[in-house]
Amino acid sequence: MQKLVAYCKNRGFVFPGSEIYGGLANTWDYGPLGVELKNNIKKAWWDYFVTRDKNSYGVDCAILMNPRVWEASGHVSSFSDPKMDCRNCKTRHRADNLISEYNNKHGIVMSVDTMTKEEMANYIKEKQIKCPNCGKCDFTEIKNFNLMFQTKRGVTEDASDTIYLRPETCQGEYINFINVQRTMRAKIPFGIGQIGKSFRNEITPGNFVFRTIEFEQMEYQLFCKPGEDEKFFNLYKQKVMDFYKSLGLPAEKLKFKDHEKLAFYAKAATDIIFNFPFGWEELNGIHNRTNYDLTRHQEFSGKNLMYLDPITNEKFIPYIIEFSVGADRLFLTLIANAYTEEKLDDGETRVVLKILPKLAPIKVAVLPLQKNLSEKADEIFKTLQQNFNCDYDESGSIGKRYRRQDEIGTPCCVTIDFDTLEDNCVTVRDRDTMKQERVNVEELINYLKRKIYNK
Ligand code: ATP
Repeated sequence: MQKLVAYCKNRGFVFPGSEIYGGLANTWDYGPLGVELKNNIKKAWWDYFVTRDKNSYGVDCAILMNPRVWEASGHVSSFSDPKMDCRNCKTRHRADNLISEYNNKHGIVMSVDTMTKEEMANYIKEKQIKCPNCGKCDFTEIKNFNLMFQTKRGVTEDASDTIYLRPETCQGEYINFINVQRTMRAKIPFGIGQIGKSFRNEITPGNFVFRTIEFEQMEYQLFCKPGEDEKFFNLYKQKVMDFYKSLGLPAEKLKFKDHEKLAFYAKAATDIIFNFPFGWEELNGIHNRTNYDLTRHQEFSGKNLMYLDPITNEKFIPYIIEFSVGADRLFLTLIANAYTEEKLDDGETRVVLKILPKLAPIKVAVLPLQKNLSEKADEIFKTLQQNFNCDYDESGSIGKRYRRQDEIGTPCCVTIDFDTLEDNCVTVRDRDTMKQERVNVEELINYLKRKIYNK
């Protein structure tokens, strides 16, 4: 992980948040390459689940919502984690996470999800699980800690109301269910997708952008008829898994993990877990939420959220199948999977980001072999720029320039040499195979589109 964090910082993917002020723990800023990669990830998700599905619609809802939303959803009363403080060094910890880490380390297989606070406290004492910061086993009582960030609205303190930064995006989809259904004349089953920021006052954030206090979620809610929910739950389990494989993640690093303890309203829940450098952890959640969310919002808002089936005239509150992933967590997953160090025949090590070409932050690098070829190179660069995110680099040896592009995952390097002036051909070098091909400039855009987008 340390290597990945350093790589991301040095190559302009992710910088520590507020760095010149000494930072703000567990906040991160995406740099020029990071923002391109993250945008490409979000676009891939949106294309796959929203654009290319005729029964899908997108929304972009407000982060700040009427606080009643969070009362209805149950977040005000119970969106909490079991926290405890180390009496010795005063650091705060999540009891369930400390137990899971201990169990993973000692090869103990047991479910932490189903443990009560008392059981967790006893287990920590019995196993003498230590504070990761100071090594002592002396913790305060375990208490529930609400993860929602609060803020105040209004110009004066007195008139102000407490409002919350949303801890998940999906409530925006629920409360707009009727708006979307009516305006789009949508018929069940249909889905609503959203990508946006969420905030959680996590007790133990960490592992780089895996768990942060501010992050982006990509969430999708399928509204379906009760009775068809199990079919759609299984269908979407597969569809979501296929999506990750389509991004180049290997099957052996992905697994389903069913939840042992379900929320009282949920009928089924499973995570897609990924083998991160720090072990198997949740990448994506998939839930059968029954009709709980819309029932609660109907109750709390007093508005009718029933769906009228135009064929059978039946009225019902739809069931919801949800899947959800953090854009930042998927970013980390893809970088961790793609970062490769290759030993070359000459004994040197080549760092390559073997990311799917369509996700690469820069698609094509234009490299004139010598500075006095820059006029032709610039002409080619300007044409390519209309079609791809391109880089132009004329400094250093060609070998060094290839390595720089390999490191950031650029799938194709286009080299302009003296022959280009004669035959109007360039050399295109492939990032993964390092093979080079001569391509006529007239053909170049189509050739690169095939290589990058398979089209
Ligand atoms: P975890 O158990 O890892 O805390 P969760 O079960 O609370 O996650 P959900 O509420 O189901 O997560 O959120 C859906 C997805 O949002 C997660 O699968 C994850 O990809 C992402 N996510 C959740 N919390 C964070 C966070 N603090 N930082 C980054 N991504 C997050």
